[in-house]
Amino acid sequence: MSQPKILLLGPPGAGKGTQSKNIAETYDVDHVTTGDALRANKDMETEHGTPRSFMEAGELVPDPVVNEIVQAALEDADGFVLDGYPRNLSQAEYLDDITDLDLVALLDVDHGELVDRLTGRRVCSECGANYHVEFSPPEEEGVCDECGGELIQRDDDNEETVKERLNVFDENTQPVIDYYDDEGELVRIDGEGTPDEVWADLQAAIEDAV
Ligand code: ADP
Ligand code: ADP
Ligand code: ZN
Repeated sequence: MSQPKILLLGPPGAGKGTQSKNIAETYDVDHVTTGDALRANKDMETEHGTPRSFMEAGELVPDPVVNEIVQAALEDADGFVLDGYPRNLSQAEYLDDITDLDLVALLDVDHGELVDRLTGRRVCSECGANYHVEFSPPEEEGVCDECGGELIQRDDDNEETVKERLNVFDENTQPVIDYYDDEGELVRIDGEGTPDEVWADLQAAIEDAV
């Protein structure tokens, strides 16, 4: 069997990064995430400016920049879990043209919960592992369990930018979810349980689909 091609949708803070890591490890597929790719290239000059200004404001980076990142990453991948893309309908159409997906899963989480998840999120500056000060703290405060790296708060995980990101989600990304739903392709996963509970549901959906 060829490796699965999975699209993981959900609002900012829904747990896409956390669950993508499980998928990548369990199914030995690439984790393709536009957020990480853009953070690693924040000051890259493009004809549309640098990603930084858009990201710090919580706005979407222009489509041509992200489309190119995704096209290159999917070309190199056998199977993948794609996280953080597509975030608007034009990106969804672009994705349709470049690949066929085995599963489109939505992590469903209420907006109220998302603000708490995002403002409490901490990430490892070395390996990118995800923590939460309350919901999944590291063994030693500020230090990554996996690699000993320093845990930091992302610039855009402050309350004001989080609210803007949730507005951008409602306006631009919700239509993407409706689009896959209308096509009958969307599998909804309750994203409000513990990370292990969400993973059990997600893994069951993957086993059904591939
Ligand atoms: P996304 O990639 O969708 O923005 P993350 O995976 O980074 O989301 O998760 C956002 C924050 O919420 C992180 O701090 C993470 O540790 C925490 N988190 C992830 N899944 C859960 C969950 N099921 N319950 C509580 N907190 C969670
Ligand atoms: P989240 O925790 O909200 O899921 P990400 O790490 O996916 O955050 O994205 C962080 C920021 O990177 C977004 O607010 C946006 O500025 C930019 N970004 C990521 N993916 C895309 C995309 N597909 N299209 C446009 N901008 C993107
Ligand atoms: Zn680490």
